[in-house]
Order: sequence, then structure tokens, then C-alpha cells
Amino acid sequence: MAQRPGFPIKFSTQEKAAPAKAPAKKASPSNPQGLGLDSSAVRQRMVQKLAAQGLKDPLVLEAMGAVERHRFVESGLVNQAYEDTSLPIGLGQTISKPNVVARMIELLLEGASGKLGRVLEIGTGCGYQAAVLSHVATEVYSIERLKGLHEKARSNLRHFRLANVHLLFGDGMLGYPKGAPYAAIISAAGGETLPQAWLDQLAVGGRLVAPTVTANGQQALMVVDKTDQGFKQSVLEAVHFVPLKSGIS
Ligand code: SAH
Repeated sequence: MAQRPGFPIKFSTQEKAAPAKAPAKKASPSNPQGLGLDSSAVRQRMVQKLAAQGLKDPLVLEAMGAVERHRFVESGLVNQAYEDTSLPIGLGQTISKPNVVARMIELLLEGASGKLGRVLEIGTGCGYQAAVLSHVATEVYSIERLKGLHEKARSNLRHFRLANVHLLFGDGMLGYPKGAPYAAIISAAGGETLPQAWLDQLAVGGRLVAPTVTANGQQALMVVDKTDQGFKQSVLEAVHFVPLKSGIS
């Protein structure tokens, strides 16, 4: 397994500290009041909390520290952007809690040596998780079934210029065969069962993490590993994701 950096980690400087003499910036959508120039310090506190909650993959913690979550939420919610809470993103959907995003990506990376190859995300939403994934994978294909959110994600992500994120508008229950096979598949919406297309499009040696309704009628995180002997499935903790729906709208 590749040597990974220890914790505390060094943050990549997407957001450079202002020079000492720079005049204070006025609040603007790109520099929201209350976070502004030191949002990286706020993010670092969020990362410390994630580590205290048991998240430990340095690659994941570094990605969580790098992506400016406040750029993905409505201006009225910016002050809650780094709290461990899910937030509304419009059209009845929500951006997942940082803890859940980090946990699912950590599961995807478990057993992988360093970065993942191609990853498929179902449910782009506001684009936040796709941005985090872009730090831990070579290519990210992210599908959203609601046109309004697909466009919102496109506009949110423009600022970051992530050349390895490919946003797709369509029904993610069908996967995205053109990008297959995937080293990892992650769903941000929970269905009654795992769509066959996802299992088909997963590479041998790949892993799928998705919320799915279990025998007791509740949603739980499901982890599926595709091996050359078949599929190995584990049911983990209970979760609360928005429903996986078919078709586009
Ligand atoms: N990862 C997102 C979370 C969005 S919530 C983020 O970081 O913001 C889950 C999203 O899944 C919703 O936007 C919902 O519209 C979408 N979704 C549900 N069923 C889907 C399907 N079949 N194909 C694609 N997207 C779907």
C-alpha cells in the first residue's frame, strides 16, 4: 500500500491567505460574510471534528479540508456550511452531512492503494460531493436526474475548474455505461434495491457504497465488493438519504 501522509495534514492552498497589507474584502457571494478569508480555518476545525469522530483516511480528510462547502449552499445558510448537518439545496433535495460524505468516501477508499480510478456518483445535487471526490479519484462521472440541480452543480463547480469532474444529466439508475467499468460507485440517494446497472458497471476489484432499504424497512449503508468470485455485500449503519427515483425531470 502506498505511504500516505499522517495527520495533521497539510492543506492544499486552493484558497491562499491574504497578504498582511491587503484591504479587507467586502462580503460577496464568493467571499461570504462570516467566513470570508479564513474559511480554511473553519474547514480545518471541521476536519478536526471529523477526525475526532473516527474518520482517519488522510486523503479523505485532506479533500474535506480543501473543498469550500460554503460555495455550494444558499447565501442564507453559509454560516452553517461547516456544521455537521445536512442542508437544503432546492427542489426538495439536501446536501449530505460532512460526516456522511467523508464516511462514504472513506469506505470507497478502504483497501485501495492511494487514489481511485474512475468513480461514478449517482445524485450530483449541488455538486459538493463530486468536488470532494475529484480530490481522491482520477475521473468523476456524476449523474443528476433533476435538470435544475444539474445546472446548479455546473454553476457551483465552475469556480473550481475541476477538469476531472464530468456532470451528466440523466437517470442514474441506469448508471453511465460509457465510463464503465468503475473503480467505485457511490449513490447519494437510497432505493429499495441496488440497480443491476450499477453492479454490471462496477469493475472487478471495485466497490459500491449506497444507501438502500433493508429487510426492516429502514435505510442502511450498503457496501458491495465485486470480486472475481462474485459479489460480497455488507450492511452497515442506518442512514437517511433522499429517495432514489427513476426517470428525469
Ligand atoms: N451528492 C449530493 C447530494 C444530493 S442529494 C451533494 O453533494 O449535494 C441526492 C440527489 O440524488 C438529489 O439531487 C436527487 O435528485 C438525486 N437523484 C435521485 N435519484 C436519482 C437518479 N435516479 N439519478 C440521478 N440522480 C438521482
